[in-house]
Amino acid sequence: MTFKTVTIHPEIDQANWERLLPASNVRVGPSPKMSDYRQGKRHLFIGPKRGQLFHLCASLDPRYICCSTHVVSHISNCPFECTYCFLQNYLTDTTLSVVADTRAIIEEIREKTSEQPWRLFRIGTWELGDSIGVNPLNEMAARLVMEFASLDNCILKLRTKSDQVTPLLDVDHGGRCVVSWTVNPQEVIKREEIGTAPLGKRIGAMEQVARAGYPIGLHFDPMIFFKGWQRAYEKLVEAIFNRINPKSVIWISIGSLRFNPEMKKKIENNYPNTKITSAELVLGDDNKLRYPRPLREGMYRFLLERLRDAGADECFTYLCMERPNVWQNVFGRAPRSIGHLDYLIANSVHNRFPQIAPAPPQKELYLSLEY
Ligand code: SF4
Repeated sequence: MTFKTVTIHPEIDQANWERLLPASNVRVGPSPKMSDYRQGKRHLFIGPKRGQLFHLCASLDPRYICCSTHVVSHISNCPFECTYCFLQNYLTDTTLSVVADTRAIIEEIREKTSEQPWRLFRIGTWELGDSIGVNPLNEMAARLVMEFASLDNCILKLRTKSDQVTPLLDVDHGGRCVVSWTVNPQEVIKREEIGTAPLGKRIGAMEQVARAGYPIGLHFDPMIFFKGWQRAYEKLVEAIFNRINPKSVIWISIGSLRFNPEMKKKIENNYPNTKITSAELVLGDDNKLRYPRPLREGMYRFLLERLRDAGADECFTYLCMERPNVWQNVFGRAPRSIGHLDYLIANSVHNRFPQIAPAPPQKELYLSLEY
């Protein structure tokens, strides 16, 4: 994908970016501030850091068992067009924007995370867009990866639906970066994840980063219900684990389609060929529409069994945005709290990837966390 325009804010040192950008359409100035969601994806703005970017995932809701990941929101909007994407209901300025100052981002993270040196912070860059989906986002991610190597109690979580991993491959990552993929059957990718890399290319990129020594994260989220979903998800798991060793997979998350009711019309207007809004959906306490609980639980259990068949049961697997009763019905157990899940993830990282977390996590400190 190429951008129609690229704008660099006057405060940014252009020399740092020239190598990465097509010279012909770069201009210096303020953000063009687009308002059309789809148009904004074709215009890139590289700007300075303004205000705080590091915070807890905005989806965290104490009524659900959330994984309490942190995020640094230095990217806004995304080159891709997933029909279910909440950004179409969220962004006001839709220009695809990225904060250029990696050092300032790292200093903010260092200051905040040093207040809890005992805690393993998982920090994602995907809250408002794909972490590496297009050049120069992937080049910027490579700079963050290098800087994260010096943050002892942090893991950088890149998350993508692309295959744009080349800039990451020669970086000295110090094992402190997880490269994660959102995965779905190819028929879902084709219809509902427009512009993203096909499944085979995503798996090829996984192989490349695994060879470069990065742990891999997998997100079966959102699972989409459709006629023939069982065989499609079975084939998806087989396709991944035929080529990826479960030992390189640090964690797996599972979740299902969800979106705010007011998004339904926007989705149908933006993507008339989508099938996601025609399914039966029920409204949850968090004002999100989801598949009815028995269907969600059945889909999660089915996927979990396929993961076991593929030998991936050693990978720490968790549900995204579900209540304890759903955990209980799927896994036969549930974390006691959000802090407990945070501890379980940290403990699994310590046991399976001790180079990232050499000391065992202190359970009582995680359990004392308040949300
Ligand atoms: S990859 Fe993520 S951020 Fe980008 S369009 Fe899809 S859901 Fe939205």
